[in-house]
Amino acid sequence: MSYDLLIKNGTVIDGSGAPRFRGDVGITDGKIVRIGRINEKAKQTLDAEGHIVAPGFVDGHTHMDAQIFWDPIGSCSCYHGVTSVVMGNCGFTLAPCRASEADLVFRNLERAEDISREAMLAGINWRWESFPEYLDVLDSLPKGINYAAYMGHSALRTYVMGSRAFEEEATEDEIERMCQLTREALHAGAIGFTTSRSANHETSDHKPVASRVANWQEVRRIVNAMGDAGAGIFEIAGEDHGRDPERVREYHERLKSLAIESGVPITWGMFAKKEAPEIWRGYFDLLDEVAEAGGRMFAQVHSRSLNVIFSFEAHTPFDSWDVWRDIRKLPLEEQRASLADPEFRARLVAAASGPSERHKRGDRTVMPPDWDFVFHMTDASAPGRSQTDLAQEKGLQPVDMMIELALASDLKAMFRMPINNHDENDVIEMMKHPRSVVTFSDSGAHVSQIMDSSLQTNIFSQWVRDRQALTLEEAVRLVTFDTASQWGLHDRGLLRVGMAGDLAIFDPDTIAPNMPEVVHDLPAGATRLKQTARGFLATVVNGEILLQNNEHTGATPGQLMRGPLARPAPS
Ligand SMILES: [Zn+2]
Repeated sequence: MSYDLLIKNGTVIDGSGAPRFRGDVGITDGKIVRIGRINEKAKQTLDAEGHIVAPGFVDGHTHMDAQIFWDPIGSCSCYHGVTSVVMGNCGFTLAPCRASEADLVFRNLERAEDISREAMLAGINWRWESFPEYLDVLDSLPKGINYAAYMGHSALRTYVMGSRAFEEEATEDEIERMCQLTREALHAGAIGFTTSRSANHETSDHKPVASRVANWQEVRRIVNAMGDAGAGIFEIAGEDHGRDPERVREYHERLKSLAIESGVPITWGMFAKKEAPEIWRGYFDLLDEVAEAGGRMFAQVHSRSLNVIFSFEAHTPFDSWDVWRDIRKLPLEEQRASLADPEFRARLVAAASGPSERHKRGDRTVMPPDWDFVFHMTDASAPGRSQTDLAQEKGLQPVDMMIELALASDLKAMFRMPINNHDENDVIEMMKHPRSVVTFSDSGAHVSQIMDSSLQTNIFSQWVRDRQALTLEEAVRLVTFDTASQWGLHDRGLLRVGMAGDLAIFDPDTIAPNMPEVVHDLPAGATRLKQTARGFLATVVNGEILLQNNEHTGATPGQLMRGPLARPAPS
């Protein structure tokens, strides 16, 4: 037998959790055809001595829906060993939608997911209306990695109801139409349906995104339509139920009944919140209850705290505050000059040291961040020191310390502010729970404020190597077999003969995320955070090398992964 690609001398960790073994992997026509000792020749051979050969990582929670049009390789996930992603989460998709109403969809996406409207206008050539047409366009695009796509409630609702989607409940006819379009999307290959009921998700004019205007009955009808069709996963950005146990229970009961009556797997992101630390374990109890009662539900968890990243090159917490807003719009050169002026700097520090009178939200005054929880980032895998500590050492105000560090670094200093998952012990407990999957990079969204595409490499640097809380085999399984299985990507996430030739080949002693950087390479020059990783020899997608030493080879071997109703029947 001859092979297209042969990976020699690596240590295979196959994704199942089984122990590692030395072996070669042979790939032909995009599929793994042999694992073991291979002596025959191949068109291309890669020596993986000293490296782990694992299945490519699978991320179930991204927002690459817009980005896929200008960034075929799926950055920054691809830099972290990810070869397959699911997009269209939280109700936000670009279909169904008429070209003439694209701006309504951008309204849903722009603020809720911080995807630049200018980038979308410049970067997307709109040539679809229905979800099936959109999938055909995705199929035709050059892709570095593999993509599966949900249909999102905000787009669906806006398509059916026009601008009323942002204000009114749907009529019976409109709900029926949404159900019908959902079935049509599943038959074309949508992987499921998503919605958001989260107060985090607003339009650019501070209104709820369209899906949040829907009542539960509407959600229930659409999810049941998926159940009737016999396919599809339902992802929900959950309700803000606060801490009242009765209100929490009421929401859990609704999710539970829906899972049981529809038979549709239900999933949502879960984080530990400092202000309500008792809430998250209740969700794990819910998962057990649902499983026992005959439904399917799984939680999506992260591998660390969810961080907002500050830097003068992108955002600071004070960009629109008094005094600050006078300089933050200026070129960085001029900002640097102002920061270096002691008198002006004192004014900035004073303005940022108390509540902002300009930013009353309702009757809530906006306060400066809690500096105990703003950390100077010097290493992407280490927690870094808090601004409070650093400032005390120097006898400065914390905000003055931030300016000091910025000036000392040519304004490149970065600070991370965890907004949840503050306690590492919570994080590892969530990761190890049998009904969770580790995913939620949010790649493609919040691109100038959050950079979680590195959550996969962080598992290996932080939890396997530094903390030794997971074995390599456990860690690989978390981001391959476990995620691929929950999303029904049946031919990925394992190294087995017949499975897709998606591989992450890395050095277990050095794999780690690099520090993020600020770049301006989006269409129309919009800003994003970019984060790469070290330790990867190669990332292989469908049998072709996509990245070698984490540099793009120019290949675009990725595929659209259509859902089960659009796959050919097994012969
Ligand atoms: Zn999301």
